[in-house]
Amino acid sequence: MGEIITRFPPSPTGYLHVGGARTALFNWLYARKTGGTFILRIEDTDLERSTEASVQAIFDGLEWLGIDWDQGPFYQTKRFDLYKKVIDKLLEDGHAYWCTCTPEEIDEMRETARAKGEKPKYNGKCREKNLGPTEGAVVRFKVPLAGATAFDDMVKGRISIPNAELDDFIIQRSDGTPTYNLAVAVDDLTMKVNTILRGDDHVNNTPKQVLIVKAMGEEVPTYGHVPMVLGADKARLSKRHGATSVTEYRDMGILPDAMINYLARLGWSCGDQEFFTREELIEKFTPDNIGRSPGVFDQDKLMAINHEH
Ligand code: GLU
Ligand code: ZN
Repeated sequence: MGEIITRFPPSPTGYLHVGGARTALFNWLYARKTGGTFILRIEDTDLERSTEASVQAIFDGLEWLGIDWDQGPFYQTKRFDLYKKVIDKLLEDGHAYWCTCTPEEIDEMRETARAKGEKPKYNGKCREKNLGPTEGAVVRFKVPLAGATAFDDMVKGRISIPNAELDDFIIQRSDGTPTYNLAVAVDDLTMKVNTILRGDDHVNNTPKQVLIVKAMGEEVPTYGHVPMVLGADKARLSKRHGATSVTEYRDMGILPDAMINYLARLGWSCGDQEFFTREELIEKFTPDNIGRSPGVFDQDKLMAINHEH
């Protein structure tokens, strides 16, 4: 692999939360360590939930933490023509097809599968129909029937999913907009992203993105799925655990270097040195040291680090 190119692609549907900031930090540290490139991409395809205020809050959070980007911010809503082109090409090459099934039909397919004790999924009804563009239809990716889709995860090791377990997932919604998996795969490819560190809530999406990249005849990036950040009760960190947006900690008087240290150690280990300068973090960071078990967020520990340094 040549130059390491990483990215942070938040969806601007809220503040920059602790988990997102940690993901941004890991990708930034890796790019800085290797003299690579760190890209910021705003994934604003969800028009109803994306807001300008959230975009600004994400910028504010990153700027406060000193996480600077080399390229971007790119906005997915400005790239719809590109996604459309790729979808058309996938259709043309037989990697995708139009599906006119109604929501009721899809529900029925799922019910039937469930009744047979199988995983509920789309049954491929339109797969061989060769339908043309139809008002209100979706476009589905044609997942190969045989074989498996595999990748070597930097954190979790080799992951292999039998293709038979994957749905012919939707790549274009009935309103003509691309889905998350399509847009992300296309963006990562066109932006030449080759290293992706992200939360393991996305691990089920990765085989779909791998399939899209392969159908486009391109090289698959290297993925590393980082376990989620949990609260003290071991449930996924959320508002009810207290402050979860990084700027709330700024407003409480936490210093950015304390926050960076705490975030870095949340899921990444490097001996028992208590505090690292930014330069030391950059020097020492490697995805190999990302832990396999979830980090537990502890506000008191963060306060203690802040107090001591
Ligand atoms: N926009 C997605 C999110 O915020 C990006 C996930 C990814 O890294 O691909 O969860
Ligand atoms: Zn169909």
